[in-house]
Amino acid sequence: MSVKVRFAPSPTGEMHVGNARVAIMNWLFARHSGGQFLLRMDDTDEARSTKAYEEGIMADLEWLGMDHDEFARQSDRYGRYDAGVEKLKADGRLYACYETPEELELKRKIQLGKGQAPVYDRAGFTLGDEERAKLEAEGRKPHWRFKLNDVAVEWDDLGRGSVHFEPGHLSDPVLIREDGRPLYTLSSVIDDGELGITHVIRGEDHVANTAVQVQLFEALGFAVPAFAHTPLMMGADGKGLSKRLGSLSLREMREAGTEPRAVMAYLAKLGTPHAPDGSETSADLARDFDIGAFGRSSPRYEPTELAALNAKVLHHLPLDEVQSRLGRLGLGTVSEEFWLAIRGNIEVISDALYWHDVCFGDIAPVADGEDRPFLNDAADLLPEGDWPQDVYKDWISKVKEASGRKGKQLFLPIRKALTGRDNGPELKDLLPLMGRERATERLKG
Ligand code: GLU
Repeated sequence: MSVKVRFAPSPTGEMHVGNARVAIMNWLFARHSGGQFLLRMDDTDEARSTKAYEEGIMADLEWLGMDHDEFARQSDRYGRYDAGVEKLKADGRLYACYETPEELELKRKIQLGKGQAPVYDRAGFTLGDEERAKLEAEGRKPHWRFKLNDVAVEWDDLGRGSVHFEPGHLSDPVLIREDGRPLYTLSSVIDDGELGITHVIRGEDHVANTAVQVQLFEALGFAVPAFAHTPLMMGADGKGLSKRLGSLSLREMREAGTEPRAVMAYLAKLGTPHAPDGSETSADLARDFDIGAFGRSSPRYEPTELAALNAKVLHHLPLDEVQSRLGRLGLGTVSEEFWLAIRGNIEVISDALYWHDVCFGDIAPVADGEDRPFLNDAADLLPEGDWPQDVYKDWISKVKEASGRKGKQLFLPIRKALTGRDNGPELKDLLPLMGRERATERLKG
């Protein structure tokens, strides 16, 4: 059986790391098995869904390098839900209900007050034609509920192991609103069924939905897909992510110059026993992907860990993979020598700007005080004429000999004068790039 999975965001907000993790799991699962990845916009909540959010989600996925094999939008598929609705009605599995939200709330309160589970009492199911006609004459419009079979629902979850729901613990879910629009519970099942989804990988907040949807797949005559529910990610503070965005949004990460490879590797490994080392391509991650490797507890998203991985990723990246982003920083024409010299010492791509100034522009002079004469002498020892690639080696040994300095005393003032910083890329790589004139000027102060 060929694998087909879907990522089904609701375009009602920006994508954050938690949604991205679910997308990544689905995408890697598909790519691992040579299957297909469907991107589906769950936009039946028309009041909250926007085109702008949809476009933002597409841009985020593209930025992460997750291509899709197929695209669907629920609002384009409204017509497709009718046949399923008719079938459920004909089979007596869909029944009209007339309670207002306030009436439902009251019922819940009474049940809770009696210590009962707040499960819908199926009042709508027992209404006769006359009662219905009377309610409609009052101007009430029905919403429609799916009649759950009173049997236990069980499935072997790829994330949680065996899951079991006893009958009677779930309310019959509303599938169709008063305005006639299908709700997610229904549209998702019809889409998954019609589009041939084999595995549904999603957050564990959907476990109860799954119990209902398993019955719905069956009632509609579809094969029930396999399910994997993944623990929801927490923030570093141990609280849920969904209501907070800010630096957790992919757009912000993208704009801050975070490496997509770092985000991908970090989220692909978070919650597994394996830590990324920054060298992983998405093909590597796909090859090694194992949905069974994720633990059962909620992993924490630690921005500091992502930042550290971001630096490691940069340390591995070849020039051609960063060239376009360097271009956006105004560094589109840098040489391979420059990139190889600096990549091991930057944490975010924009750090390249500083080292570009060190090599090819101006930096603020550093106060040097007592090292002045030493640096002057060092400048005078810089060789004339064209410099060989290894100019630094000969020069520094001459400076060492002439000054009698060694270790930190020798290297630190030189590094500071030449680069304006205490640490950074190897001077042997930077010196030939900055050239004689620039080096002289900085050493002479
Ligand atoms: N649109 C739903 C959500 O964002 C999809 C859930 C699912 O994967 O079925 O929660």
